[in-house]
Amino acid sequence: MRIILLGAPGSGKGTQGDLMAKRYGFPRISTGDLLRQAVKMRTPLGRKAEAIMKEGLLVNDEIVEELVRERIADPGCRKGYILDGFPRTVAQAEALKEIDGKRPEIVIGVEVPSEVLMERLSRRRVCPSCQAIYNLIVQPPKDQGQCDVCQSKLVQRSDDEPDVIRERLKVYCEQTEKLKDYYLRKRSYRPVDGRGTIEEIFRRIVHILDEALGKDEMRRVET
Ligand code: AMP
Repeated sequence: MRIILLGAPGSGKGTQGDLMAKRYGFPRISTGDLLRQAVKMRTPLGRKAEAIMKEGLLVNDEIVEELVRERIADPGCRKGYILDGFPRTVAQAEALKEIDGKRPEIVIGVEVPSEVLMERLSRRRVCPSCQAIYNLIVQPPKDQGQCDVCQSKLVQRSDDEPDVIRERLKVYCEQTEKLKDYYLRKRSYRPVDGRGTIEEIFRRIVHILDEALGKDEMRRVET
């Protein structure tokens, strides 16, 4: 099974993706994390992507598609995986079909009003070492400014500054929101109300996935 997390920046996809990975045992593949890692390591790809990411724009489709192709070839992804932040364009969705077309898929659309997104993004802090995500108000670290998991100093992502946030939300509306219709047509889109506590949102997702994964299991037994 492939689970695609679709939602605007700040919708909580990353946090929910981590919880889903723990519950269902599928790895979470975040193209944003893969790209940030490449930037940190100063790889040729990272150097190309860095300036684009700083502006809140989308990295070239081919670059991201290649990252995903490599990552999902990993044996750990054989049973399934959770995609967070990919696809972001219809061209990427088409590429995904070509990379791994036969796998059953479900798209969890985390829907959050835009004013809530702005607020969440400006309060987000991340761990640069283990990528844990915090929110200063609703999910603060136990010790101020420090990661609960690995004790590294938390940082604000450079693309979580107000001007860049606005640009990222614009890019989302112009390019990624079209994917909702794309997956509605494929009948794989499941909307989830992304307001409320992390636990409330997760319960809504589990409700959908338990049913979908149960069906997937039955299909595998039959074939
Ligand atoms: P994220 O962590 O998902 O918010 O991604 C951070 C940034 O990485 C985005 O603003 C883009 O610049 C880049 N990025 C991540 N995923 C993709 C993708 N699928 N296509 C193009 N750019 C991406």
